[in-house]
Amino acid sequence: MDNHGQDMYRLAKRLFPICRSITGDGVRDTLSILGEIVPLKTYEVPTGTPVFDWTVPQEWNIRGGFIEDENSKRILDFAWNNLSIVGYSEPVDQIVSREELLEHIYSEPAQPDAIPYVTSYYKRRYGFCMTENQRNALGNGPFHIVIDSELKDGALTYGEIILSGESQQEIFLSTYICHPSMANDNLSGPCLLIYLAKMLSELPRRRYTYRIVFIPETIGSITYLSKNYVHLKKHVVAGFNISCVGDDRTYSYVASRYGNTLADKAAKNVLSFHAPGYQAYSFLQRGSDERQYCAPGIDLPLCAICRSKYGEYPEYHTSLDDLTLISEAGLGGALEVYWKCLMGLEHNYCYRVTCLGEPQLGKRGLYPTLSRKGSANEIRTMTNFIAYADGTNDLFDISNIIHVPVDRLIEIADILRAGGILERMPEARTG
Ligand code: ZN
Repeated sequence: MDNHGQDMYRLAKRLFPICRSITGDGVRDTLSILGEIVPLKTYEVPTGTPVFDWTVPQEWNIRGGFIEDENSKRILDFAWNNLSIVGYSEPVDQIVSREELLEHIYSEPAQPDAIPYVTSYYKRRYGFCMTENQRNALGNGPFHIVIDSELKDGALTYGEIILSGESQQEIFLSTYICHPSMANDNLSGPCLLIYLAKMLSELPRRRYTYRIVFIPETIGSITYLSKNYVHLKKHVVAGFNISCVGDDRTYSYVASRYGNTLADKAAKNVLSFHAPGYQAYSFLQRGSDERQYCAPGIDLPLCAICRSKYGEYPEYHTSLDDLTLISEAGLGGALEVYWKCLMGLEHNYCYRVTCLGEPQLGKRGLYPTLSRKGSANEIRTMTNFIAYADGTNDLFDISNIIHVPVDRLIEIADILRAGGILERMPEARTG
């Protein structure tokens, strides 16, 4: 596979400066750039639309903002870093005292060089975010504070790609596009998913239909589900929430509510070979859109594979989560893991050997072919595959039992099927 590391990183760099939020032009600009790689359909859901227990909020856009000290010296500017203004800040243009200003300043004392990422979507306020060092260096004032923002009835925007397959059963892939300039959380997610979509779109045949969405986190997944959950519940056989997939440090897995879906099975299997020391988190440590997709009554078979998971790395939700934190190799590794999961799912059937007793491989030209590769292991893998191809084990089960990754088993299954000694059971097992 082409690991697209460079492409994904370059895309992250291009998207990085855009100020995204849960609504607004930053989301639209981001979707339009993603759509250059694989065309996507955008949807606009009007402010005020009821979505389950929530309501689509007003749309927020921001043009700029700053703080100037008593000498008109600019000490903070939205143009320098778009984390500097609290997301969904209402507009302000005032002269304020030092005390008044401090009530609207957010900083992170434990990380004195980091600008924290702060939002206030559902309570009207305004605020500025700065490093603890900047806060400590504030003069006596007064200060001129300006936020040139707008909250108005508009829409919540999201993007969707449907790649149809031979079956109407679906694989559901979701990521969010609502964070301003931060890299691992969250630009890595959309950058990976759009290239995953590109690779899927280039497959000569797809068993499954792929439903791929780029949405604002929480309110976006709730909005999407409220419109589509009946269809999703009926058709989705496995899904992944793709987030925090850009750094190099580790691999993580976040389970579905009970950790027992086909997606969980694929994720755990692939990670056990690709990154055996991966960090496993239960649904109790959820934090992203798996909260909605696995909620009671929705119960989609969906889990998440991350590199350093949200909330678990020091730069999380600060200005330190910048383009130096993610890498081509980090993104490429995560793409490879997701690709292996999807290709495993594409080939996931229960398999059954067609003869009684061990088949004679030599008679079918299989033994010598493998001998020429000089590997007794290959033959052992093949006979082990056959030994567990009793019609009850799917590809992931067999992989787990015989300790061979699914991407190798896919090749072996093809050889054995071509040799007429292995068949797929008619129904794919989905759990
Ligand atoms: Zn986040």
